[in-house]
Amino acid sequence: MDALPTICAHNLGFPRIGRNRELKWALEAYWRGEFDQDELELRGRALRRRHWELQRAAGLDLVPVGDFSWYDQVLDMTTLLGVIPARFGGDGGAVELDLYFRLARGRAPSGSPAPACEMTKWFDTNYHYLVPELSAGQEFRLSGTRLFDQVAEAQALGLRPKPVLVGPLTWLWLARSARERDDRLELLPGLLAVYRQILARLAAQGVDWVQLDEPILALDLPAPWQAAFPDAYSVLENGGVRVLLANYFGPLADNLTLACALPVAGLHVDAVRAADELDAVAERLPSGRVLSVGIVDGRNIWRTDLDAALVRLQVVLTRREGRLWLAPSCSLLHVPVDRTDDDRVPEDVIPWFAFATQKLDEIVLLRHALAGETTATRDAFDASRRALASRRASPRVHRPEVAARVAALRATDEHRARPYGERIGAQRERLQLPLFPATTIGSFPQTAAIRQARSRWRAGEIPEAEYDDFIRAEIANAIREQEALGLDVLVHGEAERNDMVEYFGEHLDGFVFSGNGWVQSYGSRCVKPPIILGDVARPAAMTLDWIRYAQTLTDKPVKGMLTGPVTLLNWSFVRDDQPRADTCLQLALAIRDEVQDLEGAGIAVIQIDEAALREGLPLRHADWGEYLAWAVRAFRIASAGVDDATQIHTHMCYSDFNDIIGAVAAMDADVTTIESARSDDRLLDAFRDFAYPNEIGPGVYDIHSPNVPQAAEMLDRLRRARARVPAERLWVNPDCGLKTRSWDEVRPALTAMVAAARALRAASD
Ligand code: GLN
Ligand code: ZN
Repeated sequence: MDALPTICAHNLGFPRIGRNRELKWALEAYWRGEFDQDELELRGRALRRRHWELQRAAGLDLVPVGDFSWYDQVLDMTTLLGVIPARFGGDGGAVELDLYFRLARGRAPSGSPAPACEMTKWFDTNYHYLVPELSAGQEFRLSGTRLFDQVAEAQALGLRPKPVLVGPLTWLWLARSARERDDRLELLPGLLAVYRQILARLAAQGVDWVQLDEPILALDLPAPWQAAFPDAYSVLENGGVRVLLANYFGPLADNLTLACALPVAGLHVDAVRAADELDAVAERLPSGRVLSVGIVDGRNIWRTDLDAALVRLQVVLTRREGRLWLAPSCSLLHVPVDRTDDDRVPEDVIPWFAFATQKLDEIVLLRHALAGETTATRDAFDASRRALASRRASPRVHRPEVAARVAALRATDEHRARPYGERIGAQRERLQLPLFPATTIGSFPQTAAIRQARSRWRAGEIPEAEYDDFIRAEIANAIREQEALGLDVLVHGEAERNDMVEYFGEHLDGFVFSGNGWVQSYGSRCVKPPIILGDVARPAAMTLDWIRYAQTLTDKPVKGMLTGPVTLLNWSFVRDDQPRADTCLQLALAIRDEVQDLEGAGIAVIQIDEAALREGLPLRHADWGEYLAWAVRAFRIASAGVDDATQIHTHMCYSDFNDIIGAVAAMDADVTTIESARSDDRLLDAFRDFAYPNEIGPGVYDIHSPNVPQAAEMLDRLRRARARVPAERLWVNPDCGLKTRSWDEVRPALTAMVAAARALRAASD
């Protein structure tokens, strides 16, 4: 094979969904039985080909193979290794496609259903992978040919494929088993034997480079895991291919020396998230090894400052005589496909973005510039400078009054006038609630009728006034239902919201929305994150009319429902020209104004959801304190402006509470409702070990399941919670919002929940 150029452009992975989400449509049609496997395979092949050719046309020297997946790249690795939980009844042979889909989603057009594998977030991204399940005495066995077939497919197109695989230690780290994590390392020899087979087979196909992703090197690794790296990679050395070990999502930090010394042919580092480490790596990595610099941000949508990037790369080049590869910081899976498809982003803003396709161009441009081909790159560099200059100077981005308001924040803005113990009396007096008040998390079913009305209104098919009337009728219906159910604190039901972040983003200055900026979340599911590009301000009240209307319909208190600043931030693409903490404070002030308006309108209970607070935790423990400090501060600024008698609620979407309970307490919400039905005991331990000072509503049933919960089961949960939380501080509520359920499920579930609350009250009299 020809030698690669000294400075080489490559990619860690391209988004697989397709510019028009072709993968999603194909998968869903196949699952519905609308076409057969041959048709699905054909569509997959067409997508792979399009993406490879696009990367070749951009000028990449190597194209990734294995980044295409029918569902998830971790599941691809798991099935390639033949790790099939017994309940799926695999026969030990090649994993056929429907078996693969049953692991992913519990069912497929053929085969018997079984509970799907668990899904969880891939590091600190919004992408979800399927957790490998290890059995006792797990064995590994090469069980598929899809990867090899795709390599051949790329070669047939005249491309130079670089297969991309989840590395053995990262795969093992992410797996679950009944045993302790460190004991799992005993499985390593068997696992590595199959990795060796894979590499040998790729070598036989004529592959020269293989990328093994080991993002766990960006985590705090226990010593046995650190120690496992050199041994593992020496087993893979001399396997006939050269290994590029890829780390991303953060600094190597205490793993830096280790990573630089591994017996691999190349090391990829994230020069965006770990910018400060680049020089150290350039110095430490032995000469003769390839250094791959992840210079273009694979986690965000902004255009690269090419001049600044070039200067950094030139410094690296002077340190390294050897070869230098340029790449995005991580796989481009985490950004949308192509900005030129967008019809919704304002025209002056589009050039500020680089989606996956544009990022490839940036990498190739940097390669040319680094090689001194400045005439060829001049125009593109100029265009890039103009775009950056227009972003820097844009009034969309900079609103001096917003920055001034943040700068003028005082310590008193972060504190309620009195501590919980003193203000709660005023709230009880005003609200007159029974013991164990029953409430919900906010949303009621988003019915087909609601979604249809919204899309017709958006398309201009029905006038705004008609849509408003429709939403009012939905609110009135939700209030009627709740009164009939006997809930104590009501909600308006959130019929007007398609999404808890998008709704607020659309009402705030500083956000833009793309028309086609989809990113894969899991399987065929994609999300279109809002983009925060400028200083955030609230031009007008966002929820006030709906909530006020709902309150006119009932004597019971109606909660005002807002999304909190940290969640707005964590579920958006965030501007990279100021610290995230600063953007979060701007969001906090906008929400604070809304809180103030609701209070002024007589709303006595206001819930500020921080569903995504935990998700924002940095990968390294040492960085948690700083994040939690500004996140908690932002929440407090959003919420602390109210009187004693106004009750602030918050809601969080996870049960993994124990390690951040101090920060949750520091948010000082009067009431916190949390997910817990799937792991109540672990959660309740948190309340045994930490004297949580305020009120709490541990979810009593799992809204993700279509099963209707029984009152007895909920009562049992409540009794256990009651043993840990004083009676006057315990609330009764589901785990999360009900928007994905139907009224036929919600009515019996809430009837049973209210019955459980009443039974507990009766027992406490
Ligand atoms: N209030 C929101 C709802 O009920 C909260 C959603 C969430 O926690 N993700 O839908
Ligand atoms: Zn939730």
